[in-house]
Amino acid sequence: MIQHDAEHETEPGALVAAVARAFASDGALAQVDAGYLPREAQQRMAQAVAEAIEGNQVLVAEAGTGVGKTFAYLVPALLSGRRAMVSTATKSLQDQLYLRDLPRLAAALKVPVTIALLKGRASYLCTQRMQQAREDAQAPDRMSLRTLAKIEAWAQTTRTGDLAELDGLDERSPAIPLVTSTRENCLGSDCPQYRGCHVMKARRDAMAADVVVVNHHLFFADLALRDTGLAELLPSVEVAVFDEAHQLPEAGVAFLGNVLASSQAIDLARDMLAVGLSQARGLQAWQELAARIDRAARDLRIVSVGHTREVRVAAKMRWEDRAGQPDFEATLAALGAAARDAALALDAMAEVGPDFVRLAERARLLSQRAASFALDTAPGRVRWIDLGMQSVRLVESPLDVREAMRAQIDAASRAWIFTSATLGAEPTLAWFTAQAGLEDARTLRVDSPFDYPNHARLYVPPRFARPNEPGHPIAVARLGAACARAAGGRTFVLTTTLRSLAHVAEVIHEEFAQHGDGIEVLVQGSAPKRQLLQRFVSASRAVLVGSQSFWEGIDVPGEALQCVVIDKLPFPPPNDPLVEARVKRIEAEGRSAFGEYFIAEAAISLKQGAGRLIRSETDRGLLVICDPRLALSSYGRQLIAALPPMTRVTSDAEALDWLAEIAAAPV
Ligand code: SF4
Repeated sequence: MIQHDAEHETEPGALVAAVARAFASDGALAQVDAGYLPREAQQRMAQAVAEAIEGNQVLVAEAGTGVGKTFAYLVPALLSGRRAMVSTATKSLQDQLYLRDLPRLAAALKVPVTIALLKGRASYLCTQRMQQAREDAQAPDRMSLRTLAKIEAWAQTTRTGDLAELDGLDERSPAIPLVTSTRENCLGSDCPQYRGCHVMKARRDAMAADVVVVNHHLFFADLALRDTGLAELLPSVEVAVFDEAHQLPEAGVAFLGNVLASSQAIDLARDMLAVGLSQARGLQAWQELAARIDRAARDLRIVSVGHTREVRVAAKMRWEDRAGQPDFEATLAALGAAARDAALALDAMAEVGPDFVRLAERARLLSQRAASFALDTAPGRVRWIDLGMQSVRLVESPLDVREAMRAQIDAASRAWIFTSATLGAEPTLAWFTAQAGLEDARTLRVDSPFDYPNHARLYVPPRFARPNEPGHPIAVARLGAACARAAGGRTFVLTTTLRSLAHVAEVIHEEFAQHGDGIEVLVQGSAPKRQLLQRFVSASRAVLVGSQSFWEGIDVPGEALQCVVIDKLPFPPPNDPLVEARVKRIEAEGRSAFGEYFIAEAAISLKQGAGRLIRSETDRGLLVICDPRLALSSYGRQLIAALPPMTRVTSDAEALDWLAEIAAAPV
């Protein structure tokens, strides 16, 4: 543990004073970084964090781009000498904190701390499954075989087993599930590889560390499943920091729900058959038990599709469209009964080996889930059906994370810090605090120190096609191409949906093919995200067309990115079952869903998308929002006010001239 410094622990205000010293012009940070300049905004946030830690309070702090919020919370956390957990939304920020920021700061502050990184199971190599994959008679395709060979070579040398270490590994590779474990297939203490298991080692290290870096998914998955190693860790945590906290509500909603997936049922049937035939052949009717589960799981997808046309892309369906229909109910009941019978048969084999105990648990859970989906939806929750090309998932989720967060905060006295560059469109940060049940928390807003009026322009093209008009994606693509031409590439075109992404990308391709501008067009989905970004930065002239996953968490500072074009206002999709349920709840309370929900959500997403543009003090750029509603509607003013204070330009010519000007005069 950290050596507790008596001064910090006992004297009220001592931590606040120590933090002020560290950030001073001759403080610890200045001593290790010659370029360090004290920044008022950063110091203000660090002071607030220090006060929250000293008083075991809850602080919600929005810090605009460039404030230096990471150091503003890490310095007080490290100097406090208390056990800390830092949670991020993305694995890339997790890695950055663990590999770069925390070791650098701990050295600068001369605080001897042990730091650990804890990710979800799926991030770690499972040596047991890797061995099974090697022995498996059903060889995977050639590509996966090559990836497997690469993983096996790396497995000889890795200490952590964290697959992120492996350069060039595509996150979507089908080889990954073959070499990672799930809660269902992990053998736990019965595993022959248990002693050297990377998952277990990461959890042990986390338990022993002073500062542990986790992610939001892990935090909520643990609340729901108790399978991530956090449940044991949390009680001893004295400072809990959530960076990228704007993603916390959605991460929570995704993990606090119940899911019944046909793929899980099919996996169970397959595993039961394999284990039954190899360890207890003839003792139970394994073929029949497995076939019943498998058939019912496949039927569940068929009855979920119903009379709608065959599903070609993933689709979300309303629960009410299927629930109550006789074939759907009968199939759900058949799946529940098949799982229950399998659990009984597996229970009877418990003494044969531990695999049967684990399989029985899985079968029981499946039968309980099927039974719970046969009951009415509980108040405050919503259900829907996720249809995939081969699978179906029945999902039930809470509408927000209020209850879960409150329960955590009330459970123990510790400091809670929630921070992000976007937590609301107004000073009370109500967008975040209301969803997280933190209305009584202290809030703080520190604006970005960047010179937006001089360095950035905002252009909302007048007389532009409306988003619901068929010509809109074409107009967006043409304007995006014109901007990229003027800027010499260096442009992101961000769309709100995957459908418009494809359309916009196609037209931009055509534009550049016709005019031979030598600008490369990079499109989301054509390669892993990291690779696309590397290519965007290294290519001398490139435009990147992306959707959701490029709206946030992307950091391209400097001249590589000088223009961001957004196709339309990012309102939540009104037909989404979760959105519908939230709207219903707001309206039932006599409030305006459009005013309080749609506009607030759009403001947050817009701020995120716009936030890609100016990433450093010297960056300059143009933000284009191709949605005339922004200029013509009353709520447009509200949304513009939520953006950083960029100078408006009013015509294509002015916008393109600005791009040409900054392209011609690099800083
Ligand atoms: S204990 Fe679980 S995760 Fe670890 S090696 Fe064994 S099966 Fe894999």
